[in-house]
Amino acid sequence: MRVLVASVGALALVAVPQAALAQPAPAPHAELARSILEEIVEINTTNSVRGDNTAAARALERRFLAAGFPAEDIHVLVPDDAPTKGNIVVRYRGRDTGRGPLLLLAHIDVVEALPEDWSPDLNPFEFTERDGYFYGRGVLDDKDEAAIYAANLIRLRQEGYVPDRDIIVALTADEEGGPRNGVQFLLAEHRGLIDAEYALNEGGGGMSENGRHISNNVQAAEKKFLNFDFTARNPGGHSSLPEDKNAIYDLSQALLAVQNYDFPIMLNEVTTAFFSGSADLVGGEVGEAMRRIVANPSDPGAARILSTNTAYDSRLRTTCVATLLDGGHATNALPQLAHANVNCRILPDHDPDDVHRRLQALAAPYDVEVTPAGTVTPSPPSPLTDEVLGPIQRITEEMWPGVTVLPVMSTGATDGLYLRREGIPVYGVSGIFTDMDDNRAHGQDERIGVRSFYEGQEFLYRLVKALSGGGIV
Ligand SMILES: [Zn+2]
Repeated sequence: MRVLVASVGALALVAVPQAALAQPAPAPHAELARSILEEIVEINTTNSVRGDNTAAARALERRFLAAGFPAEDIHVLVPDDAPTKGNIVVRYRGRDTGRGPLLLLAHIDVVEALPEDWSPDLNPFEFTERDGYFYGRGVLDDKDEAAIYAANLIRLRQEGYVPDRDIIVALTADEEGGPRNGVQFLLAEHRGLIDAEYALNEGGGGMSENGRHISNNVQAAEKKFLNFDFTARNPGGHSSLPEDKNAIYDLSQALLAVQNYDFPIMLNEVTTAFFSGSADLVGGEVGEAMRRIVANPSDPGAARILSTNTAYDSRLRTTCVATLLDGGHATNALPQLAHANVNCRILPDHDPDDVHRRLQALAAPYDVEVTPAGTVTPSPPSPLTDEVLGPIQRITEEMWPGVTVLPVMSTGATDGLYLRREGIPVYGVSGIFTDMDDNRAHGQDERIGVRSFYEGQEFLYRLVKALSGGGIV
């Protein structure tokens, strides 16, 4: 899943001109990244009978072996019960300074794509370069980052770079769905290979508008996911003799109460930084409301302004919404049973039991019972440390002067979830800019700007060096 937070784009923007073009990566490394991207895009890694993640992992293994990485530092890890769900983990050894490893995570599985759904002159599994874009399934989500991590690791080795910590690249299966999620598999069965002090992942990325760079987003938190079952029961009867109590009416009123309810505003470190950073980008009344909500989360006027925009509202509070409905058993009978699914996206710090209590209180007047369906996976926000944010800000300023580094909380989930709950902080950052009106991840004619791809490669090269003691060359 690639999450491009389009929040700040939903309103008029004070766009920052792209004052200076980034220094392109030296041609051989850019060419290497492009050739790896081409190779893995043309290996179908969908979760279908045609898909084979292991084949992509093996292709990458050949690249690392050819580049001289020791075989014992390259691991293709395939679950016994899922031969096509292979992952590759490569360790680049650093000096022993006591610093924990840096993990670079990307998924190499992709969302299904049917050639007939794409433009007739494109094929999702044929890599195409045209008019400044690379086309193909996965070029934006997430084979771009996989190819960049692989090419950059090879580049570092060619340069004889010695980091002050191990750098681990893990390129994994089934992030987009499927039976054998690679990160879960690696954590469960090969934890030692991917244990890290923190990780970089997808989920962030640069946001531009009409080609102008606006912000370099760093995903540092994700909301949690939990469904609740709303059930109304009634003795029923003949529909020719309606009673006041009716399971469908009761359920309807409970759901309307949910619709009209706003969960309390709860800011965390990441959303505070997001609203602070967005205030200047957005400007005007909305920007002012962002400043006010950060200063005082119970400012009702500011909350009212921000809540008219779902992108902002969903980052201020837990949200719950009805998503499925059924009830009754015959056209001529009073309903005995009606139920609905209510899907909640819970702030990382919000206790799910509190959400349950609030929903039950809304439904109780209508005799509707609320029960959680499933359990919540905790996903604590990753701390915005200077160690990580400092280099991101410095390199962003070097490459794109004036562009804001914007911490963001996703309302959906990535594989970062599994690492965060195991205590490994995760930062979604890539320096790959996508126009907010042109995000084709999961969609037709998926594409990435050629220049964006190479700039992202250079950004991640500099960032990984900065985070592993090497500074900037
Ligand atoms: Zn993705």
